[in-house]
Amino acid sequence: MEKAEYIWQSGKFVPWDEAQVHVLSHGLHYGTGVFEGVRCYDGEQGPAIFRHKDHLKRLDESAKLYYLDLPYTQEEIGEATRELVRKNGLRDCYIRPLAFRGYGEMGLYAKSAPVEMIIAAWPWGAYLGEEGVKHGIRAKVSSWRRVSSAGLIPHAKASGTYLNSILAKTESANAGYEEAILLDERGFVCEGSGENIFVVKDGKVITPPQVAAILDGISRKSVMTILEDFGYTVIERDLARSELYLADEVFMCGTAAEVVPVREIDDHPLGEPGEVTRMVQAKFNDAIYGRAPEYSEWLDLVGEPEKPEAETETSKVVS
Ligand code: PMP
Repeated sequence: MEKAEYIWQSGKFVPWDEAQVHVLSHGLHYGTGVFEGVRCYDGEQGPAIFRHKDHLKRLDESAKLYYLDLPYTQEEIGEATRELVRKNGLRDCYIRPLAFRGYGEMGLYAKSAPVEMIIAAWPWGAYLGEEGVKHGIRAKVSSWRRVSSAGLIPHAKASGTYLNSILAKTESANAGYEEAILLDERGFVCEGSGENIFVVKDGKVITPPQVAAILDGISRKSVMTILEDFGYTVIERDLARSELYLADEVFMCGTAAEVVPVREIDDHPLGEPGEVTRMVQAKFNDAIYGRAPEYSEWLDLVGEPEKPEAETETSKVVS
């Protein structure tokens, strides 16, 4: 991965390589962490974080669901994030806030182990590849089912939950596919390993409902708004696996991946990206880069990057 200069760690801006934790941190052993994946885009109004408030709210909610008391408010985390992006001299970047149970007590009921927090930001391009964004990806329905609310909390973006996504992603990548599609425990279509999924059939757009075992994606919400504003009715209902193969169009969306067409599922060709996918992709891109005034409230302006401090120091010494 590409490094940046600083990581925000428990209230301080720490040089990237020095942002470390104890090996007995609780989160490392049991997956007791919650996190977010956020993106900042260098748009029309300068660097801006897409739907920042929604990400901060989801982080807060994920923490509550796993009994983690966040040591910072959403406002404080938001302010620290904007400062981190500016301080790192970044304009386009991925942002990863993470709160986890730290070092101090082992065992499963480790109430006295403190909740620690970091925020990192670094440049990260198209998660599923530029080619996939343009022409679509090949996906495989996973043999692993998405975790259900019978045993975990699908709506929380929690570290431990990602073992499920990692199994599915690993299986699909080892089989030569770009992404995995997970079914839920009943066998209905759920989502990708890191994206929500939409199917277009006979002019209708269908996606699994918010109460399914999905992560309630922020890109998903944006895509639904875009579709509705274009006059489409988005139907939230269970989707049978066969509907994937017979779809006119399938696309996925997530913060890391953005809007990505799917061109083949389990060796059933779906073809080049269709009209609805193209429209959503174009409008989503307009929204993230500040070219869609109707969605300007989705942008949290960061301000111009500060000159990286290390450079300032060096130039002082040299001059
Ligand atoms: N589902 C899963 C399992 C994910 O990891 C993600 C990425 N956070 C998503 C869906 C999409 O969510 P978002 O659009 O909020 O990034």
